Amino acid sequence: MSNNLSGDTLRVALVAHDQKKDALVAWVETNAEHLESAQLYATGTTGSRINDALPVLNIHCLKSGPLGGDQQIGALICEGKLDALFFFIDPMSPMPHDVDVKALSRLAIVYDLPFANSQSTATYVLKGLLNG
Ligand code: PGA
Repeated sequence: MSNNLSGDTLRVALVAHDQKKDALVAWVETNAEHLESAQLYATGTTGSRINDALPVLNIHCLKSGPLGGDQQIGALICEGKLDALFFFIDPMSPMPHDVDVKALSRLAIVYDLPFANSQSTATYVLKGLLNG
């Protein structure tokens, strides 16, 4: 079930930094039943990792984050095309595309988009979306 209480299809973006990809894939596996009919977007490498683990999910893969994928997701936010962003950020590693990470986080806040950065928060956000 991946509709909210109003019956609308959920539109969700998934992004994880390299050290957090295993955690995001595991979280998606745990929540697959809620995500399988959602409209899913992901940055390139994150999306292909999820596809490998869960080919049943219909993920639209964008560019890799450092090559513009973060900005593509930012554009979806600006256009009102997302209901949530699950962005598992690695707080321990320097990122060559840190400006993109900041820009994407900033847009999620500007547009008051439900925005989860870790497993526990992601679970709360997903429950909230499903319950309306
Ligand atoms: P990736 O991008 O999924 O292509 O690794 C994630 C990121 O923005 O770092």
